[in-house]
Amino acid sequence: MCGIVAYLGKKVAQPILIEGLKRLEYRGYDSAGVALLGSDGIRIRKTSGRISALQEILDEPDSTQTLGIGHTRWATHGEPNTVNAHPHIDYTGKVTVVHNGIIENYDTLRTWLQNEGVKFASETDTEVIANLIGYFYAKDADGQDAELPKGQNKFEWSVQKALGELHGTYGLAIVCSDFADMLIGAKKGSPLILGVGDSEYILASDASAIVEHTTQAIYLSDNEMVTVSPDGFHTKTIDNVTVTKDLQQIEFSLDQIELGGYAHYMLKEICEQPKALSTCMGGRIDKRNERIKLGGVGDHLRELTRTKHLILTACGTAFHASLVGEFLFEQLARIPTETEYASEFRYRNPVIQDGTVVISISQSGETADTLAAVEQAKERGATVLGIVNVVGSSIARATDAGIYLHVGPEIGVASTKAFTAQVTVLTMLAIELARRRHISSTQAAEYIDELAQIPDKITQILQQSDHIKEIASANIDRDNWLFLGRGFNYPVALEGALKLKEISYIHAEGLPAAEMKHGPIALIVDGMPAVFIAPAGPQYDKIMGNIAEVRARGGKIIVVATEGDEHIKSAIGEADHLITVPDAPEILQPLLTVVPLQLLAYHAAVLRGHDVDKPRNLAKSVTVE
Ligand code: GLU
Repeated sequence: MCGIVAYLGKKVAQPILIEGLKRLEYRGYDSAGVALLGSDGIRIRKTSGRISALQEILDEPDSTQTLGIGHTRWATHGEPNTVNAHPHIDYTGKVTVVHNGIIENYDTLRTWLQNEGVKFASETDTEVIANLIGYFYAKDADGQDAELPKGQNKFEWSVQKALGELHGTYGLAIVCSDFADMLIGAKKGSPLILGVGDSEYILASDASAIVEHTTQAIYLSDNEMVTVSPDGFHTKTIDNVTVTKDLQQIEFSLDQIELGGYAHYMLKEICEQPKALSTCMGGRIDKRNERIKLGGVGDHLRELTRTKHLILTACGTAFHASLVGEFLFEQLARIPTETEYASEFRYRNPVIQDGTVVISISQSGETADTLAAVEQAKERGATVLGIVNVVGSSIARATDAGIYLHVGPEIGVASTKAFTAQVTVLTMLAIELARRRHISSTQAAEYIDELAQIPDKITQILQQSDHIKEIASANIDRDNWLFLGRGFNYPVALEGALKLKEISYIHAEGLPAAEMKHGPIALIVDGMPAVFIAPAGPQYDKIMGNIAEVRARGGKIIVVATEGDEHIKSAIGEADHLITVPDAPEILQPLLTVVPLQLLAYHAAVLRGHDVDKPRNLAKSVTVE
């Protein structure tokens, strides 16, 4: 994963890099470092740990250092120590790189370079890139290689030669001490954006590190590079063919990426769901005409309406949203649908028939496995649509068409508002397809009306935050939890368990409630928390039976039920806990029932003293396989 940032301009680079790294820290926080070019040549400072640890070892900002590169790492190759921290400098001491991605053939290249006498300092794949560029650069410098085309500078040429040898993925920022006013960026499979300001440039993994300086940017595509100097920038393919890129407007503002008085981004993002979902539905729900308009996939609606095979593919939380989607497309629209982990789909030789439509879902639009699944599905002739949040991201560009979430940046590593927005988009699509296929306009209008009420209903749930905190507190010492739901609320059980695991480090399992008696009920011991998602609906009586079975064995019941459900009070004991959600049709319940579980996980993590926004071993967008 990792975040990279680079600056070239007239200002002192160091504080700009540090500010940018802080904005990118959600992408990885194993180690951090910067390299700065100034009158003293190149100076590198790096350390294991977070940006705050890096700040402690930085020198006073030097006014001659107006070019620099920085990195915050999520380690893939080599433990997260200082030696393996980026930037990596080559064996000649001239070329320095920061890298986001994985070089798959690094071992072969490393052995080859070692046989050529090149010495390595770290265990990373990234150092191979630095040394390879340095090798080509030094070779040419020694006059042993006459390949340098006329008019091209050695630095750029050496980068191109090196990139031609790499297999794998990279977002790179590269500097060379012989070119004190030149910055090179290159991209393949990892995101890279160049912010273009007034006589200054910021190259970064995502726009959050750029918006403070400029809202104009170019988005590099795979196999493209950019060479930046005080005179401007030019973009090329890595094979040296010039490409013209249009400047684009970065769509979000600074306040969207700031905490705004909240203790954590996760809490902010949970609480902003009513507004976020209203924006997501805005312009798409036409209440007057009782219709849903999804412009992004407009050209594919006929195909979607007729398809006999829909595949939804995603990872992590987005996979749970896809599972809700499967229920929606099958039960509401009556379209045969499968949900696949993208990481499995890409290697599974999937059956893609004539007319199969694949929908891939990813908050960042950069999830490596999901992107690979998109490529796989395209190769096999499927129409591939995307549901992503980040505008202009790799999946957005690789798919035939798609629907953006439009919920603003999600920074908390544990996804919350992106989940409910993904489910909202899937719900809108399913209602529209159902209307086109078989349900009456009146029925569709009822669903649309109910969907439009969801943001207000979430606002009501959020008011129970303190009550949910008490529940978390009462059970905070328990190390094993179960989350149980049926039907549409089964994916919510999976999502509730995932939330608790990723930020509280409490072991939790999500299961279809009826599966308990086929094995997992053996886990129940006195006082073990079992969270049941049991709103009013067709499965209510069944899940009441499942609650009774767990209670009889001493489990502590935490139940999410519908407001006004008097029966539930008698079905649970004094020591058990009740959380209520407003009534909603079964197909919309996941949008409500997940919210208390997000809050439960949040409060449990805070009570256990964890860094909610930066859980251990994780990073926000999984841009590596
Ligand atoms: N492979 C590089 C490393 O381990 C970069 C990791 C990443 O981008 O996640 O340092």
